[in-house]
Amino acid sequence: MKTYERIRNYLNAFLHLFYPQICFGCGTDQLEKEMPLCDHCINELPITDFFSIDENPVEKIFWGRAPVLHAGALLFFTKDSLVQDLIAQLKYHHNKKVGILLGRLIGKEIAAAEKFNQIDLLIPIPIRSSKINSRGYNQSQVIAIGIKQVWNRPVETQVLLKKSWSNTQTKKNRSARLRQVPELFVLQNAECIRGKNILIIDDVLTTGATLEAAIVCLMTGDPASVSIAVAAYTL
Ligand SMILES: [Zn+2]
Repeated sequence: MKTYERIRNYLNAFLHLFYPQICFGCGTDQLEKEMPLCDHCINELPITDFFSIDENPVEKIFWGRAPVLHAGALLFFTKDSLVQDLIAQLKYHHNKKVGILLGRLIGKEIAAAEKFNQIDLLIPIPIRSSKINSRGYNQSQVIAIGIKQVWNRPVETQVLLKKSWSNTQTKKNRSARLRQVPELFVLQNAECIRGKNILIIDDVLTTGATLEAAIVCLMTGDPASVSIAVAAYTL
């Protein structure tokens, strides 16, 4: 991205703080209520179409690592892009509206891709409670709420929990040849997911390590299947 575009994005983000009724992408005031972006900027977002593509790059990330039925990402994430700014707004600038919008866009894509029809419930990737305290919300849960607004599935937040720092040490007594999946999560109320088709929700996918750890944990609750929907996929 060119420097002036970067500066323009920065200024728009700054203005948006004081004038939340202007578009975060282009600065227009032609905005629908509670939307961070105008229709034009929404249409310009780098949509991957992965939700309707079998064997897409997001699904391939988990091949040989974890049993994933379907997976997809809404947007391509690149450095110095509007998508990067949107994710930063959601994670570091208390801009919950961005998460709702991303969720609604995911919901529309998933509803159009019929292979997701069998999903019974949405499980957002949990974050540590200290982060919820500083951020005010779990960004993946906000995305899940956005999805639910357009594609009605229950959001389950009491099954997959993040472990506290003190007990996330990976077990050191396993064979060195086995690739270790860190035990980041703990399962409770397992009966809620037994025999169910789960859709895990996350904000950004990079290596897939966090999602892999979540899937390994969820599988101990014996779900029928696990699928994945993320807002952005890093190239
Ligand atoms: Zn705009």
